[in-house]
Amino acid sequence: MYEYTGNIHIHSSYSDGSLEIADIAAKACRSGLDFIIITDHNNLNGLYDGKEGYQQNVLVLIGVEANESKNHYLCLDVTKEVIKNSENPQMVIDEVNQQHGLGIIAHPFEKGSPCFADGISFPWTDWDVHGFQGIEIWNFTSQWKDHVCSTLQGLWLVFYPHAALSGPCPESLAKLDERQGQGEKIIAIGSSDAHGYSMKVGMFHFQVSPYDTSFKCINVHVLTQLPLTGDVAQDKEKLYTAIKKGTLWIGYDYFTNSRGFQFHITDGDKTWQMGDTVPLNKDLTIQVVTSVRARVKLIKNGKTKQLSFGKRHIFADIDPGVYRIEAYHRHLFGYRPWIFSNSIWVE
Ligand SMILES: [Zn+2]
Ligand SMILES: [Zn+2]
Repeated sequence: MYEYTGNIHIHSSYSDGSLEIADIAAKACRSGLDFIIITDHNNLNGLYDGKEGYQQNVLVLIGVEANESKNHYLCLDVTKEVIKNSENPQMVIDEVNQQHGLGIIAHPFEKGSPCFADGISFPWTDWDVHGFQGIEIWNFTSQWKDHVCSTLQGLWLVFYPHAALSGPCPESLAKLDERQGQGEKIIAIGSSDAHGYSMKVGMFHFQVSPYDTSFKCINVHVLTQLPLTGDVAQDKEKLYTAIKKGTLWIGYDYFTNSRGFQFHITDGDKTWQMGDTVPLNKDLTIQVVTSVRARVKLIKNGKTKQLSFGKRHIFADIDPGVYRIEAYHRHLFGYRPWIFSNSIWVE
């Protein structure tokens, strides 16, 4: 497998982001990313203007974030604009599926901040929907905003955003586990939702939702079957095939890059990756590798089943269920949330 690091859910000057796509790609390159996915609000003009492709060695892919007042939905791997419908998100989900795209529910439990736009938030309100492919469990900008309760605290969190970024949104993670437990093979992603807003408080100028910082924080690491070669159409297909399957993990890469993480199930002969379904047999073990010593939780059906500490982690006694991994690395006097894998299903 070949690992590529990317950042999903980014706004450019085609909607309310502050930079043009070329400048965002340059920042992604400096942050060491292999790909980014731009999702401007309710338009695909970047795609129509030919901005998809390699820029500064970064593969720029372009999707769209549909809807306005609520029920924001990331529509990826689509070629036509998706008609927004904030009141009836099932229509939006269905249209992405008609285009054989990849649809992800964005920041579903966003709460908002009294310091921004009178506390307005954009949660997902309709959980009777079906047919979506994923849930955004960790969104830099949403979580950052949710933590700002005063101007003073906002200034502190501009200076040190990591204090707000306390791990995936618990409600989103619970919803993922719940839907997976009901048999839906949906995926989890993490994102930046970067806009690069400039703000001014008194004599201070600062950036909210900065591109540079957020490209170093909540990234996705995608494992492809074949290496990317520079051919835009083929590389796009390789990445989206892996993302749709969920062969990826979310890494908070700022303090310790999560590159090289491994999570698979083996019977000694055959190996299964994230996104796979494994037929039960008595020889199955779960194998996990982290690049530094970490506290690792094996989560089964949404509950912690076993704990491990170190760099190599082996879990036996595997019975049917949905398995995923959470890893926490040492930081200052405690541990920071670091790696959140996608799931492997054992039947
Ligand atoms: Zn949104
Ligand atoms: Zn957004």
